[in-house]
Amino acid sequence: MNQAVSVKVASVPLEIEQRDAADPLRHLQARFHLPQGKVYLAGNSLGPAPVAAFDDIEAAVRKEWAEGLVQSWNDADWFSLVDTLGDRIGALVGAAAGQTVACDSVSINVYKALHAGLSLRPGRTTIVAEAGSFPTDLYVAEGVVAGRPDIKLLLEGVDADNIEELIDERTAVVLVNHVDYKSGELRDMAALTSRIHAAGAIAIWDLCHSAGVIAVELDACDVDLAIGCTYKYLNCGPGAPAFIYAAKRHQATLRQPLSGWWGHAAPFAFEVGYRPDNGARRLLCGTQPILSLRALNTGLAAIEDVAMADIRAKSLAMSDLFIDLVEQTCRDHGATLVTPRDHAIRGSQVSITFENGYAVVQALMARGIVGDFRAPDMMRFGFAPAYLSFADVYRAADAFNDVMTSGSWREERFNRRRAVT
Ligand SMILES: *Cc1c(COP(=O)(O)O)cnc(C)c1O
Repeated sequence: MNQAVSVKVASVPLEIEQRDAADPLRHLQARFHLPQGKVYLAGNSLGPAPVAAFDDIEAAVRKEWAEGLVQSWNDADWFSLVDTLGDRIGALVGAAAGQTVACDSVSINVYKALHAGLSLRPGRTTIVAEAGSFPTDLYVAEGVVAGRPDIKLLLEGVDADNIEELIDERTAVVLVNHVDYKSGELRDMAALTSRIHAAGAIAIWDLCHSAGVIAVELDACDVDLAIGCTYKYLNCGPGAPAFIYAAKRHQATLRQPLSGWWGHAAPFAFEVGYRPDNGARRLLCGTQPILSLRALNTGLAAIEDVAMADIRAKSLAMSDLFIDLVEQTCRDHGATLVTPRDHAIRGSQVSITFENGYAVVQALMARGIVGDFRAPDMMRFGFAPAYLSFADVYRAADAFNDVMTSGSWREERFNRRRAVT
């Protein structure tokens, strides 16, 4: 699997080196372990390991688990990690404390959030979502309506071109992605939430591709519910627990069907009968994977002491640079930049469609440039400001231009499909 990685190191123009020297986030790079000879542009899929994670996770195993055993539920605060880590995630997405819990997977949290939204709008009959959504969100929505014959799922891109046409007095819940996982397009959270509220519906935002990289303002935008991922731009580890947010005003009334004991008002009273907690903990179900949850600590710590506005500014500067450097090559070879150029609607990735995109991504990987591919023809390059430099962006663009221009992606070895793309 470890084919000889021949990284042709492009020399970087002085102007690019100067941008790195002036970068206020430069010091963050040392907080991450980045494999030698790689430019990692897949942080929108799986973020790299924070260096501090090695010792922190070892301590979780050796001290908290191996030595502390069952007493670590109290002594190492395992039982409250869902809240303390949840509040730290909340701080990164514009949520005041007490509204976010770290738990379960995104898919499971979508299930809870959709039901919670429906419970807040009894009598209403539709869920509105996007056909272009990351599939699991829609698959879960299908599962929700399968158990609720009174509710219909309407999709932007199928039932109407624009989501706003689907939002009316029948709408209970609107589930939207803050950043589209394929195109990298950013939706206007404030404007769409207020449109959803004007129709009397509940707004659920999926922050998988914005948490950690965009200055999300959940409270200021008056969002009702939100879910998101911690293994992408929050760098908390493969399969790390996700998060779910419920605005304070809804917490005492919302219901969600995974009514396990961690969501109970008095979990250690072992009462007969479910009685939900009054706060965000009613979004919980049962025991969490504590070792995976512990990994959130260093992922969050790696970025929580810097301003999200600085992260956002560097993200846009990096994607601008990449676009500027590759757009001529794209035009010459029939590849299409699909990520918006307008900063107001651009996330933190650049997506390019090209018929042979899979082979191009493989050819780039062989040169140490790690992006990813989404069927049928989309190459994605994620720009994570915490650990990438402008020199990295330059090297990636240089390799991209070379692979496209030389046609080296045509080699047979780059055209063999593997299981995970
Ligand atoms: C990454 C991602 C997910 C992942 O869901 P899991 O349950 O963690 O597998 C879900 N939704 C969106 C929009 C994503 O980008």
